[in-house]
This record gives sequence, C-alpha cells and structure tokens, in this order.
Amino acid sequence: MLYREGYFRVDAAGGVGRLRVMRLRTIVSAVWFGLGLAASAGAAERPNIVFIFSDDHALSGISAYGGIYKDVAPTPNIDRLAAQGVIFERSYCANSICGPSRACILTGKHSHVNGFVDNEQCTFDGSQPTFPKYLQQAGYQTAMIGKWHLISNPTGFDHWDILPGQGNYYNPNFLQMDGSSKRLKGYCTDLITDKALTWLKEQRTPDKPFVLMCQHKAPHRNWVPAPRHYEIFKDLTMPEPATLFDDYSGRSKLLAGQEMSIARNFYWGHDTLLHGKPTDPRFDDMANGEYARMDDGQKAAFDAAYGEENRQLIADLAAGKLDDKALTRWKYQRYVKDYLGCVRGVDESVGRLLDYLDESGLAKNTIVVYSSDQGFYLGEHGWYDKRWMFEESLSMPLLVRWPGVAEPGVRSKALVQNIDYAPTFLAAAGLPVPEDIQGRSLLPLLKGAGTAPADWREGIYYAYYGEQTHHVPMHDGVRSDRYKLMYMFPTGEWQLFDMEKDPQEMHSVHADPAYRPVLEEMQALYRKLRAEYRVDNSIIPVRRSSDDWWEQRFSQKAKQAKQAKDCQLVFIGDSITQAWENAGKAQWNENFATYHPLNLGFSGDRTEHVLFRLKNGGLNRLKPKVAVLLIGTNNTGAFMRPAAETAGGIKAILDDLRSRWPETKIVMLSILPRGPDANDPKRKLNDDINTRIAAYADGQSIHLLDLADGYLHADGTLPRELMPDLLHLSPKGYQIWVDGLLPKLKELGL
Ligand code: CA
Repeated sequence: MLYREGYFRVDAAGGVGRLRVMRLRTIVSAVWFGLGLAASAGAAERPNIVFIFSDDHALSGISAYGGIYKDVAPTPNIDRLAAQGVIFERSYCANSICGPSRACILTGKHSHVNGFVDNEQCTFDGSQPTFPKYLQQAGYQTAMIGKWHLISNPTGFDHWDILPGQGNYYNPNFLQMDGSSKRLKGYCTDLITDKALTWLKEQRTPDKPFVLMCQHKAPHRNWVPAPRHYEIFKDLTMPEPATLFDDYSGRSKLLAGQEMSIARNFYWGHDTLLHGKPTDPRFDDMANGEYARMDDGQKAAFDAAYGEENRQLIADLAAGKLDDKALTRWKYQRYVKDYLGCVRGVDESVGRLLDYLDESGLAKNTIVVYSSDQGFYLGEHGWYDKRWMFEESLSMPLLVRWPGVAEPGVRSKALVQNIDYAPTFLAAAGLPVPEDIQGRSLLPLLKGAGTAPADWREGIYYAYYGEQTHHVPMHDGVRSDRYKLMYMFPTGEWQLFDMEKDPQEMHSVHADPAYRPVLEEMQALYRKLRAEYRVDNSIIPVRRSSDDWWEQRFSQKAKQAKQAKDCQLVFIGDSITQAWENAGKAQWNENFATYHPLNLGFSGDRTEHVLFRLKNGGLNRLKPKVAVLLIGTNNTGAFMRPAAETAGGIKAILDDLRSRWPETKIVMLSILPRGPDANDPKRKLNDDINTRIAAYADGQSIHLLDLADGYLHADGTLPRELMPDLLHLSPKGYQIWVDGLLPKLKELGL
C-alpha cells in the first residue's frame, strides 16, 4: 500500500505542503520504477480512459437523451458517443452538488464515507484512496485538467492543471502543480480542451496506458457562452417545461421554501447578464462577474450580441409591459439559451477530443466516458440549480464508448450511480476492486448490452445534507425501478412518487391508502440500503439551513464566541440548554455570571447539528475551563435512533471537544429523564444511551453528571412541577441542575 491513511494531509489553509507532495511523488516513482517492468508487459491490452466531465449538465441538455430541446439545441458530438457506445438512462448521483459528486466519483463511496458531504464545510481528504491513485500505482499515467472543485489540491495525478474553485468562463486562471496561478486569455471550455489535447499529443509518455480527466466548468452558473455561441438561438423561442409554473401543491411544504426559483431568485447581472443595477424589484442585485473579466474586444462582442435585447427589456420593464408570468418567461428564455450555449461549447470539446482519438489511432483502445457531476433544473418546477432528489437533478448523463467491448447503440435502464465509476475504471484496467468501495463495476452491463446481472441493486441511495445556499432542506431517499421515496429531515415527512404514473413528480402518494404496501416496501428498501452503506446520521455534521432562526442564532453565537472575553464556562446542547435564557435565566445569572458563560444550546438540535456547530462555529479562540454537554434526547424524540448511534454521536462530540480544547474539562450530563414514567419508550431509549455514554467518562478530561435522581420520584414518575411538558425544565428544574453542577465546577477548579 503506497498511500498510508493519514500520511498525506491537507493543511488548514486547504493547500498541500510542497515538500510533502514531492516526498509522495518520489515514493510513488521509486516504487513504480521497481514494478515498471512487470506492469508494462500487459500495458498494450489495458485500455486508456478519457473521462470527459462537465458541471450541471442536465439530461434534457443532451439530444441523445431526448427531452424538449433535442431538435432546437442538438448535441451532435455527445450523440456520436451515444451512438457508438452505451447510454445509461437511469444514472444517478449520490448527492446532487458539485464537490460531493466529484468525491463520490473519485472514491467510489457515498459522501458520509468519503467525508465530503457539502460544499460549505468540507475539504476533500486527499490522503484517502481514489481510482486515479490505484490506476497510477498500476502503471497508468494520470492527468486531471479543468474544474476540480474539491478545495484541497489533486492527489494521485502525474499531471494536473486546474481551475481554482468554480473557475471563470472568460480569461480564466489555472492553478499549476508548482503552486503558481496562470491567467490565460480565451474561453474556459476551449482552453481546457486545448490543454487536454496538448497533454495527449505532447506531454504523456506514449508507451503507458493513461487516464485523462478533462473536466469543464460549463454549463455551470453564471451561464456565459463563448462569443461564437452568443446568438445561435437568437431567433428561436425555446420550448417551456410543463412544470415551469409549479405551485408545489400535493407535496411537502418545504418545496416552496427553496431559493432557486427563476421567478424569485435570479440576479440582474449574474444570471440574466444585464448591466448596472436592477431597475425592477423582481431581480436581485449581483453583477455579471464574467463581463468584468472580459477585455475590450470581448466586451464589445458581448454588447453587440446582448445590447439590443437588454435595452428592450429595460424599456419594457419601465413601461410596465411585463407581468410576473411574462417576466418569468423572459428570464427562462434568456437562461436556457445561455445554458444551452454553454453546452454547445462542451459538445464541440467532445468533438475535438473524439476527432483526435480517431486521427491518432488511440480510439480503438480507449474508453471514452461522458458524464456530469449531476443534472440541473431547466425551469422544471420553476427552478434552476440542483440539490433536490427530483429526477432532473438526481440524474447524471452517463455515456460510455469502449470499442470491441461495449456494443454500440445500447440504451441501458439499469440503476447505476456515480459511486460505480471508480470500480468500473479499476475493473476495466484489470485491477481488483477493493472491498471498501461501495459502488459496483459496470463491466457486466457494458459487456452485456446494458443488462444488469441478476444480483444487481434494487435501488439507489441518495442524500443531500443541506446548505445555506438556496435553502434546500436536508433530505435523503431511495429510487427503485418504479418508485421514489424521500425523507425530509426537518419535518420527518415521507414523500412517495410513482414515477410511472407521475414522471414529473407533482403529487406525493405517501398518504394514499392504495399505496400503503408500496410505502412499506420502499421504507424497507430505504432501511436496507442505509444499513448496507452504513449511514449513521448522528455522526455526520450538518447545519439546519431550512430554519431561519437557527441560522441567525448560529451567526450570533459565532460572533459572541469570537468577541468573548474571559469565558470560562460553555454550555453545549439543545433546547434544555437554550432555555437557560428563559426558564433558567434567574439561576444562570445568579450562579454562573462570574464565569462569563456562553450558552450554545439550540432548540431541536441533535448530535449531528452540534458537530456542525463545533466545527464551523468560530470556537477555536475560546479556551473555557469547563464545557457542560447535554445532548441526545432529540436523536431519540421523533427519530428513535438506535442507542448505539446516538451514543456514537455523543462520542464524536467529546472527541471534537477534546481536540479543539485540550485543556478544557468536560462535564457530560446523562440525558435527563423524559416522559411520564419508567415505561415510556423514549425514556427507556435514553436510559440505554446513558448506560453507553457513562463509559466515556474517564474522570480526567470527561466527568459524568447524572441528575436523574433529583428529577424523579422513587417510583420513576416525573413530576410536572420540574418538567411541565415532561421534557423541558421549569425554574425549579433548573435549580436541580445548578445544585448538581456547582460542586462539580468547584471540584474542577472554577
Ligand atoms: Ca455541479
């Protein structure tokens, strides 16, 4: 094993130590030198891999997939690949945003296993095994060109040349392996293609098999096509999706709370490419950053193409000619034409790469894959963007051409997922697929005319962990051949869709008695897949982005933590801790004020939210003498998570606190009793958790405080005088906590 776990770490700033990069590369080269002869014997038979990858490319933006644009905005080069290979019609991502999907592809593992659950808090741990590393170790040359978007620098590549972060369409910067950044003149899709072709023609070693990852920014927001594509759809009216004016009835009310609506959440400059400030309140204000990057000639070309139409819109807005529907339609036309213009650039890139593979003779032994990190809404449900588990963004294009192995022109309906890419590439190179990879090789499907083997999966598992951006709530679910089940974490709602009868997912049938057996079957599949993939939400840090008050409190507490002076005591927990600010206020002021305490209690929080807050809450400057932790009862609550999972969540919090504040003493409270009596199922579950977490107290850093006796009658009943709702504390209830805690604080030196 060349890459020992934990050997190759990304530093706090997200960069990678150069010295360590060189050391790793030296080791790889040295070991390879030793294996080189043996490996090269089979090199001739091992196929090359050209992986062409775009960003946010919806299936409907590829004519080979059909859809409403197939005649008005065809993609002849991607279609050529489809005709010569296998087109997967039910190909899905595991988590519908950029970084997470890429991490799933590289590792063959779901987000909660590879650690990159969202774009807001994660940095890809480049020390973990990935398919490029395995291929590199097996003698493949590996190259990564274009959009990477995983914060840390690429690992496992002989050559990389990447866009920083999201990158730019116009005159983009490219990060180099030596740490420098180069700004090039031109259009991003073309420049990435040029670089990929240069690597193929001039930079690789011809006698070794290779994997080339050519990854585009396009057609990611903000959608600015190449100048030659500004006006290709000018005289057309693009067809509208049937659900452009979806009112979100018949499904969870959470759908209406998103901020990815064409009608409500489009920026004047950034999205619709208008200059100056909005002249109409139905636009948000953000400039077109791509225009700002253009040189004078590029600006002139842009203005020549867009100027007249923009002036007309502004005049029509001023004259009150556009009602809400008409304006949404205008925005939609502008959006989709620009998006499909960006797609045209990608399609031309595919054509140039395929042409070179043909001309050079490489085509016959090269697997060519076209895919994108997830799909996208092109006005369906009134949306742009992705994230939701609805079909348009859950789907990923996947086309695979492998001459002599995969039969051309095959359309597969097998359920495949981005975690399958890594094992497929390893298997194609003749390598074993490591047991910890969660995806499955698609080789049997490629060799078997797209038909899945008998033991293929019954469904795919999907999870979106919630981000502040676009306000889409955390949800997960499973999709089988016919049905889709979603679970909404903020509300505990199920959503069930019959994809055969309701392909546009306009009506959830979860409460329809006729679908009761289907609901139960899909819930069983959900539990089965979550167990198989070892999903344990109690230890996956997530924010509660759909609760505005939570986000506000989170920002406010981070600010307080940064400004805190001489804070010696921190309380961490849920509503029972938060209510020191209400029912417990008098006792708090009287007993703790001298310690300049900070209350980090958030009503409704579970262990995973506390983990997120610790990680992202600006707490590193604090050095409290004591931290008081009371958490877990909401993991029980409506969820009834297994005791072992909640205890594991508490353990993860303790581990975080100990590494964050090594000198701090932790007072861990046993979860307080709840419910009327000892037979209450939630009480019993909490008791089980308490038995488990007691073992974490070491009497050194972690001290257990069990207050149950103070709250309970001898017969196990819980007096409402102390807990009026049998869960939260009265002022008298807080006094019991004070009486138990004060001696402990003294014992710990406060
Ligand atoms: Ca994306």
